[in-house]
Amino acid sequence: SQVPSITLNNGVAMPQLGFGVWQVPDDEAAKAVTTAIESGYRSIDTAAIYENEQGTGRAIAACGVAREELFVTTKLWNSEQGHDSTLRAFDASLDKLGLDYVDLYLIHWPVPAKDAYVDTYKAFEKIHADGRAKAIGVSNFLPEHLERLLGETSVVPVINQIELHPQLQQAESRAFHAKHGIATEAWSPLGQGKGLLEVPTVVAIARKHGRTAAQVVLRWHIQTGNVVIPKSVTPSRIVENLDVFGFELDADDLAAFAALDEGRRLGPNPGEFNVGA
Ligand code: NAD
Repeated sequence: SQVPSITLNNGVAMPQLGFGVWQVPDDEAAKAVTTAIESGYRSIDTAAIYENEQGTGRAIAACGVAREELFVTTKLWNSEQGHDSTLRAFDASLDKLGLDYVDLYLIHWPVPAKDAYVDTYKAFEKIHADGRAKAIGVSNFLPEHLERLLGETSVVPVINQIELHPQLQQAESRAFHAKHGIATEAWSPLGQGKGLLEVPTVVAIARKHGRTAAQVVLRWHIQTGNVVIPKSVTPSRIVENLDVFGFELDADDLAAFAALDEGRRLGPNPGEFNVGA
């Protein structure tokens, strides 16, 4: 497909744009993932807590695209953190997905009150050594949590998947990641479709390029170097969100995007999010 790949710090290639399935019910996931793969997506982002690994797996099994051409990510839920429980939860995810490996396995949240992410990550290192996850990483880790992993474990996470969009540009995390060879992946890249896509600056840039607001926002992510995983269950939008490689934002557009940063989160602050502790 036309989607470029980035090379992770362990040499594994990851498509820079993929398909996210948060809030897609299991019985709709197969249809949405099938549409995405047929449209040209090759990377799928799910998680145990999304409860749609089975539907996602059914689409993967039936899609007719070779397994090695797909990039499948899933995530360990907070309540399963800890060494042995992680190994069991990983087996359960693989089973639901119907796969014998995932391309990327992520710790979903650090859950600081539980203080188990280091032991959890050591189990991830075993899974990785066994070849059952081609790459391992984290999600929602603040630099302080990454510092601890870097100090106490041996495999540098390939990626940190964090909330990131033009109104929450995450300069500090991005700089920390860059310094340590960790890729930055943006969740809720469209700001969950609320507000951001109606911001006058975004609408004006879209009009200038003859594109939609969603497309110019995704293009901003691509030019910023982020991995993105927009979600939609609407076939026309699934196609639209992938079609962001035929135009380029200029310096004026990028400056206008830079001015939209408000540091405002849609989701929880990872330093205080302890659900499942
Ligand atoms: P998103 O920013 O991708 O927005 C999705 C919503 O935007 C859709 O439900 C729809 O309402 C709207 N939308 C999508 N395409 C559109 C278009 N072309 N035009 C207009 N509106 C459009 O939000 P998200 O689903 O929260 O994030 C994407 C993915 O990131 C998730 O599916 C999930 O895989 C991942 N995620 C991870 C975490 C985490 O903690 N690691 C948290 C949230 C999301």
